[in-house]
Parts: sequence; C-alpha cells; structure tokens
Amino acid sequence: MKNPRYLTKSRFKLALDCETKLFYTNKKEYPDQHLDDTFLESLAGGGFQVGELAKMYHPGGIEIPYGKYDEMVNETLLLLNQEKVIIYEATVKFQNLLIRVDVLVKDGNNIDLIEVKAKSFGGTDSDGFLNKSGELDSKWKPYVYDVAFQKLVLMKAFPHFNIKSYLCLANKNSHATVEGLNQNFLLHKNNDRTSCVCKAGLTKADLGEEILINVRVDDILATIYNQSNFSETGTMSFEEWVFYLSEQYKNDVKIKTQLAKKCKACEFRCSDEDEKSGLKSGFKACWKEQLGFADSDFNKPAMLDIWSFRRKDDMIEESKIFMEDITKDDLRYDIGSGNGMSRTERQWLQIQKAVSNDPTPEIDKEGLKAEMLAWKYPLHFIDFETTAVAIPFHKGMRPYEGIAFQYSHHIAYADGRIEHVGEYLNTKKGEFPNFEFVRHLKAELDQDEGTIFRYHNHENTYLNMIYRQLVKADENDVKDKNELMDWIKTITHSTNASAESWAGERDMVDLFKMVKDYYYDPKMGGSISLKAVLPAVLNSSTYLKNKYSQAIYGAKGGMKSLNFTDHVWIQLDDKGNAISPYKQLPPMFEGVKTESLDFLISDPKLADGGAAMTAYSRMQFTKMSDIESREIQKALLKYCELDTLAMVMIWEYWEREL
Ligand code: SF4
Repeated sequence: MKNPRYLTKSRFKLALDCETKLFYTNKKEYPDQHLDDTFLESLAGGGFQVGELAKMYHPGGIEIPYGKYDEMVNETLLLLNQEKVIIYEATVKFQNLLIRVDVLVKDGNNIDLIEVKAKSFGGTDSDGFLNKSGELDSKWKPYVYDVAFQKLVLMKAFPHFNIKSYLCLANKNSHATVEGLNQNFLLHKNNDRTSCVCKAGLTKADLGEEILINVRVDDILATIYNQSNFSETGTMSFEEWVFYLSEQYKNDVKIKTQLAKKCKACEFRCSDEDEKSGLKSGFKACWKEQLGFADSDFNKPAMLDIWSFRRKDDMIEESKIFMEDITKDDLRYDIGSGNGMSRTERQWLQIQKAVSNDPTPEIDKEGLKAEMLAWKYPLHFIDFETTAVAIPFHKGMRPYEGIAFQYSHHIAYADGRIEHVGEYLNTKKGEFPNFEFVRHLKAELDQDEGTIFRYHNHENTYLNMIYRQLVKADENDVKDKNELMDWIKTITHSTNASAESWAGERDMVDLFKMVKDYYYDPKMGGSISLKAVLPAVLNSSTYLKNKYSQAIYGAKGGMKSLNFTDHVWIQLDDKGNAISPYKQLPPMFEGVKTESLDFLISDPKLADGGAAMTAYSRMQFTKMSDIESREIQKALLKYCELDTLAMVMIWEYWEREL
C-alpha cells in the first residue's frame, strides 16, 4: 500500500521554494531533474556522516526505521510514553502533516527537537542567522523554516509538552581533537537506501571535543509564528499557510504562483525526447497556463537566459518575457571603465546575437592582443579538484576545511608543442593531501618562468587557503613549510581572507576573465563555464576541428597525454556539430541510478568539479573493490586532464584568430 499524501518536511521545503511544485512532485508523468541532488550533495559534503555524528553526541537513542508512515508514528508514540527517551527519526503526525525529527530528546514534559544539517556555522547563537538589518538571512531561511514546520507539528500533536528547538550545525569555531575522525563513519548502500555506519565499538569519548553546535532557534520561530504575510497572497499566518498547503497537496490541487526568475532553475522540466515519449514538463505547463504560451514560444530567446541579469523579476512583472522585449535601458547599459566588455555590454551582445539569429562569435581582438603581449612561454594551464567535508580528517582541522586532492597540468611551448606534462591525485582513505599537492605542483611549475593560467578564482582561493594551513602547521611535521609558503605567494595574490597582502610576480592569469572580457559566442548562451565554452570554441574553429578530428592526442609523435591514447576529440552529431568532449568521458558512478555523466555535467550545482568531489567522497567513505576504485581514479584523471586541455583549446583558438 502506498503512503498517504501527507505534507512532509521535504514537501514543505519544496513549497517554500514554489507552491506550484507540490502539484508536480512525486508524479511519474512530471520528471524531477533534482531527484538525486540531495543524495549527491549529502555524499559530497558529508551529510550522512554529520547525521550519524549528531546521534553519537546524543547516545542511547532508539531509531525508528523507515517504513509505512502509520507504523512509524505508532512506534514513536509508544516510545514517547517513557519518561525519558531519545528517539532518532521520531515520526509524528498531526492531521495531514507528518515529520521525522532527526533527534528528539524527551525528558518528562520537555522535548528537545534537534534538526541536523551538514552546514557550517561560525556564530554562537541564533543572531548568527540574521542579516545586517536584523532579519533572517535568506541563506538560513530554508533551514530555520524547516524547524518552524517541525515545531508546529509537534506543538499541534503534543500541546502539553514544552518544546525547545535547535539547529545542529558544523561548528566552524571548533576543531577535531582526535586523529582520523571522519574515518569512523562509513557509508553503506542497501538496495536503494544509503546509510552511515559507525566503526564497531565507537563511543562518544573516542570522538574528542564536539565539532557540532546546537543553536536554539525558538526566538526566531516566535517571530515567524507572529507574522501574517505567508502564502502567495501574503495574508496568512505561518500556521494557516501550512494547513493550506497540506489541504491543497492532499486534494492534488495545483496552487498558482507568480512566475519568476526562480523558474529558470525549475526541476520539473524535461527534454523534447521525454515529451515525445509521453512525459510532461511542469515548467512548460506553468508558462502556458499563465502566459498563454504556444509550444513555439519556448524556442524564442528567453529573457531568463540573459547572462548575469539581476532584473529578471522586474522584467516578468513588466511582461518582458523574451530577449527581443529587452532594451538597453532595462539592462541599465553602461560601457564601464575597465578593460574589455562591461557586464551590460556582454548582455546586450548576447541579446543582439540571439534576436537576430546571428551564430557568429565575437572576439575583442585589440583587447585580447594587449593581454597576450604580457604572456610568457612556456604557457602552463592548471586546474584543481577540491572538496570540503564536514567531519575533519585530522586532529587540529576545522569542519569543512578545504582539501585539494587533484590537479592537471598542460604546457604549450613556444615551438608549438603541447603536452600534458603533469598531474596529481591522492584518494587514499583518511590522508590529508594538501601539502604534498603543493609540493608536486611547485616541482612542476618551478622549471621555468612561464605564464600560468587558471579558470576562475578557485585555484587562487585554494592556494591561499593552503597557505593559511601551512602558517598553522608545525615545522617539525612540515619541514619545507616556509619554502612552500614563499612559493605560493609568487603565483597568487592575497584574498579578503588573508591576514597579509601580496601580489605574486608570477600571479596566475584567469582565463575565465579573458573569456568574460573579450570573447562571446552565441553557442555559450548565458554561461561562461568551461563546459559551455569548450563546445562553442570547437564548433567555431576550423583549425581545432581539423586538428582534433585526427587521432593525435596521446599518439606517438602527436600530443603527449598521461591518460589518453590515440584519442580523437572531435565527434560530430547528426547535424554536423562537434559533441562536447565531456560527453565522451567514462561515467564515474556506474551503478548509481541517475548519476549519469550527462546529469552530472548539466546540473549547475554539480558542474565544474561536483562530479570529482562526489567521486572523492565515495572513495573516502564507502567500501569499494580495488577494481571500482581504479576505474574511478582513471575517470578522475581523464576529467581533470580534459579541463586543462579545454583551456589549451581556448587559447589555441584565439591564437589562430588574432
Ligand atoms: S515553472 Fe516556476 S512556477 Fe512553475 S513550478 Fe517551476 S518554479 Fe514554480
């Protein structure tokens, strides 16, 4: 028998995002593109382990296993008859509302409701959730509202209890006081459910000082309960709104909400192929119902797709839905004072090209040439793969301290040779790789004085972070710490988080910024990510198409590669367009249902390193065979190599065009 249509906390969270989504959720005919996000995010960021750690901090509890709602509710009720009890996943129902509380501590008439989130928090109390105006910061809103929903259900179900509510978060001000903390919590997959299992015999004392913080939120909840501006109409109290949502969900009534910029990321979309097979797009249904769209309207350049445009909601209110409706005044057009295109110049260029159906790319040759004059051979292209896990690897580390576990390195020489010369990958369980990572990188880049390229700020940010870790490191443990720190300063500039200020004489050049300032190709649409730029460049350059149609990559006498042999990068689709090389790479997650390569690189939350981060976490926290581990490592090496090759290809394209 199927569980009834209760408004659960995940459905409430969905409605918080957009009330209409309640109608599409859990219906086979409306595919949900975010279905596995929670799983992947939890896997990459350590969400499963944080839940288990919170239980260890509240030992002796009884877990309500997932099953039929009514059975879970009855089991919880029985346990609540005890004077004192700790329940994990306590399941409570009131009318059509149902919650599962991460940790519920009952002592007489008092209940502590503890919602555990794998998020880092640097404050000491609930003031840390407020913005400068003293209001709830939008970043914390989904988490605090989640607790507000749970407390409301508890208060309704058990009016005689005193309830204290807490958000349990990773405490940025704490640090691990024991070695190898995160290896105490490993993930297991049973059929379709992933769970975290603690090392046998582990006790609270083995965990050292606590790295999670319980932040009481009842004062903020009181404010929320006193407001009467909820629902699309802005006229309901929080309680009225929750019951309204639950009624609409129970009766399967679609709630109409205002179309807005959030619709761009709506998960209820599907491809044309899916539609042909009978599936439906929730996104299209909304836009048809509210704006009378015909199918053909979805092919017109949409205002929502304009790059980095902050006035999208204003435009929808003014019924300016298509790019053709947008004027320079709407963009607040400004040519800026720096080098290259301003943000609005780039937006206007995108609009003009899209509206006039002009597929040709634009390169600001003068601007780019001026930049290139300062570049020195041999050119180095580097890319890092990093992660930040909630529970630290090592004694002394804070929750979510960054880990740099992989890089790739290509060189382009003045004589035209291009080689994949170096890489680093450390996926050993429980090993902190950062200092060894920098040592390797230094050895490779120290051979000459050539210009180093990165794509966006990530590499600079991470080297700064490793610099700070080195400052704290014991010289007895890291004998070359000063040498490494001095070297980091030569190829980076300081960030806002730095105590010192510097700009290295060989500070890396940001290729992302070069693209943003000097290059626009309509095939990139509103994106400047490497995964959008690479196929655009390949399709616009006859030189690249010819060169990479041949099996030269990793070939004898061709281009040196550390992971490919005789590889042909240009493969054409049935319209003659080059297929993105990222789609030619092996999937990293065989056996995990929807984590296809396509999904991982097309989802904005997972693109640009998300796949690698998730793979790394899987290798750290799950048991896997040597064969599976080797396959994932091979895939990781290929991914990262392609990232630096993509940067090389962009540079090669410009070189030929100028
Ligand atoms: S398209 Fe917009 S209104 Fe419709 S469900 Fe998605 S986000 Fe909500």
